Amino acid sequence: MTQDSYDYDAIIIGAGVIGGAVGHELAGRGWRTLNIDKAPTAGAGSTSNSCAIVRFSYSTVDGVMLAWEGLHYWTDWANYIGTDDESGLIDYHQVGQLLVRSEDNHSHSEKVKRIWDQVGIPHEVWSVEDIKERLPILDMGLYGPPKRPDDEHFWDDASGEITGAYFSGDAGYVSDPQLSCHNLQRGAEAGGGEFWFNAEVVGVDHADDRVSGITLADGRSPTAPVVVNVAGPHSMLINQMAGVFDAMNIKTRALRHEVHHVPSPSGFDFMSRGLVASDDDLGIYFRPETGNNILVGSGDPVCDQREFVHPDHYDTSLSESQWEAQVLRANRRMPQLGVPHEKRGVVDLYDVSDDWIPIYDRTDLDGFYVAIGTSGNQYKNAGVAGQMMADLITACEGGHDHDQDPVMVTGRYTGTELNVGFFSRNREINPDSSMSVHG
Ligand SMILES: Cc1cc2nc3c(=O)[nH]c(=O)nc-3n(C[C@H](O)[C@H](O)[C@H](O)COP(=O)(O)OP(=O)(O)OC[C@H]3O[C@@H](n4cnc5c(N)ncnc54)[C@H](O)[C@@H]3O)c2cc1C
Repeated sequence: MTQDSYDYDAIIIGAGVIGGAVGHELAGRGWRTLNIDKAPTAGAGSTSNSCAIVRFSYSTVDGVMLAWEGLHYWTDWANYIGTDDESGLIDYHQVGQLLVRSEDNHSHSEKVKRIWDQVGIPHEVWSVEDIKERLPILDMGLYGPPKRPDDEHFWDDASGEITGAYFSGDAGYVSDPQLSCHNLQRGAEAGGGEFWFNAEVVGVDHADDRVSGITLADGRSPTAPVVVNVAGPHSMLINQMAGVFDAMNIKTRALRHEVHHVPSPSGFDFMSRGLVASDDDLGIYFRPETGNNILVGSGDPVCDQREFVHPDHYDTSLSESQWEAQVLRANRRMPQLGVPHEKRGVVDLYDVSDDWIPIYDRTDLDGFYVAIGTSGNQYKNAGVAGQMMADLITACEGGHDHDQDPVMVTGRYTGTELNVGFFSRNREINPDSSMSVHG
């Protein structure tokens, strides 16, 4: 087929935050794009329940640099989207992130601090007094390692005091992740991109040893010489349809995850005084949530059992035991928090790669690309992932051998050189990874 005989230049499977950003970037470069999603609207997949925290506390230099570049898309959002959205644009709440320090030199916080010093990520070193001044509701006790509430030592007295924290003032969160996908859709459409909703991909089509389009459950089969798998927790299924799953060294799987919402201790305005906190001593993270609530997430401590599931068949209700584990851990840090009778929060899926680092890559099927394995930590990187995928696709379609000579991308905001080969499907498991949501 010649380029002109295809219906589109690129089909993107998924209209979540990453798929939307890939569509927006390619459409903005003049590609005829089609984003396909089985959901009725943009961002209705796992992005809708994302905590949407923007932070730079990754375990690898490449991970930190990607997140730092990614930040600038949020602070320049209106320009980046480049058009109006009748639903409004998202707000980026730049409240800062507190990374609770640990004495252990090998701990995540100390590793992050070394990378931040090495690459120049702005941060402050806060004492216990500094933390108390900003957040007087916090208890400074040392309770780790994280435990389940049925552990006989869960309620033990603190073994000491935390050392303090690293504070990253540029970090924050987006309060409406689904709206960010709608913004991306409107941005892509302004560049001529199309979106089809309620359209389920059931097949990835091949012709002449390369991808040629997709088949939908309703029988339609749009064609394109480039297809990008950005199906989030369903990425594994789409890779199987394309016949590329077995050949990839790094695989992806859907992991069930819970996030809980608890009212702020009475009399304390967590919305205006709160911040994002990563607390490995207790295995939790938290941030302000609309309505003066505190959102409590899990840092995946080893004592919590991981629940890998089929992305279409899993329990979507909050479980008593995980609610207790996360909310009681949060109570150790915020003793006035309490445990509400009514469980509130969300259940959704991470698309987890074998080493919790995403896969942004081509595949062995020419024209078929993947932006997957986002492992609960890539919302923040949507903009830069879009740029990286567009540069990668452009290079490979132009004949570049990315597997032999990895594509380098120059971050459009910071000018940082980003090595796309770091996110290869064929890498060995990265030993520097935290093997958790920290990345
Ligand atoms: C509870 C939770 C908290 C998180 N917190 C954070 C955070 O604080 N910070 C952060 O950076 N990241 C966070 N993440 C991760 C982040 O949200 C994800 O990495 C990101 O949203 C993934 O976007 P996506 O576009 O790849 O996937 P999705 O949003 O899941 O989009 C994939 C889309 O593909 C569609 N699809 C799937 N199969 C098909 C098919 N066969 N046919 C057609 N369409 C299909 C789906 O309907 C879906 O809309 C969190 C994730 C979760 C679940």
